[in-house]
Amino acid sequence: MADVPPTGSGDKPPFVTRLAKERQRGERPPPCARCSAPSWWNGWRVVFPTVATLVAGLVERWELPLAKARCSSCRHGFTCYPPGVYPQRRYQLDVVADVVAEVVLGGASAARAAAVAHATATSARRWVVWLAALANPRELLAVAAQLDPDAPAGAGLGALPAAGAARAPAARVLAALEQLGSALGRAGVAVAERTGLGRVLGWQHTAHGAVFGLRDGGLHPSPATVLGGARGGP
Ligand SMILES: [Zn+2]
Repeated sequence: MADVPPTGSGDKPPFVTRLAKERQRGERPPPCARCSAPSWWNGWRVVFPTVATLVAGLVERWELPLAKARCSSCRHGFTCYPPGVYPQRRYQLDVVADVVAEVVLGGASAARAAAVAHATATSARRWVVWLAALANPRELLAVAAQLDPDAPAGAGLGALPAAGAARAPAARVLAALEQLGSALGRAGVAVAERTGLGRVLGWQHTAHGAVFGLRDGGLHPSPATVLGGARGGP
């Protein structure tokens, strides 16, 4: 464990970087997702994601070595991510979901919500805009209802924040993702993430290799893909 001193100041919680994982990997990487041929290990890549902790409002930065692999047939190169780690995100999805919730549900300013995650107000505003356009909340709720017909009372469209206010579109998507994330857990899908956003996108990544960047929308999950969907495009 190579801890470095906290860099927090003022009333901010300390920001710790810690080695999250030793360099461990199996004998062989998984087969190629594109052509199913065997692959081989091809070095390491170290990333430094900001992740949510179990303590609400406290984040930490990980030093995380990721094993890289290459296909022996089509030469496709890929990185192996442990459960709960989303590709290409300095701020992991549970952190994004917490900050957006503070802004659109808690009424915090972007600057205040972002400070908890050691992010900038610009990032927080960008996350709100991204989330509002990521998916159709009615579509998410329909999938949740199909997965989990016995959902607790209060779920469904009536549980979504009222439309109208400027922050309502993102709030509605966030609330619908929470319902779908809970439904996934109850349907027996292994979820390492805490928030609906983390669970739903983590599931899409694990099941289909789909990765949604900050410019991407068009999340259309289907209940058929929950149970043994083939790997492929989203
Ligand atoms: Zn291949």
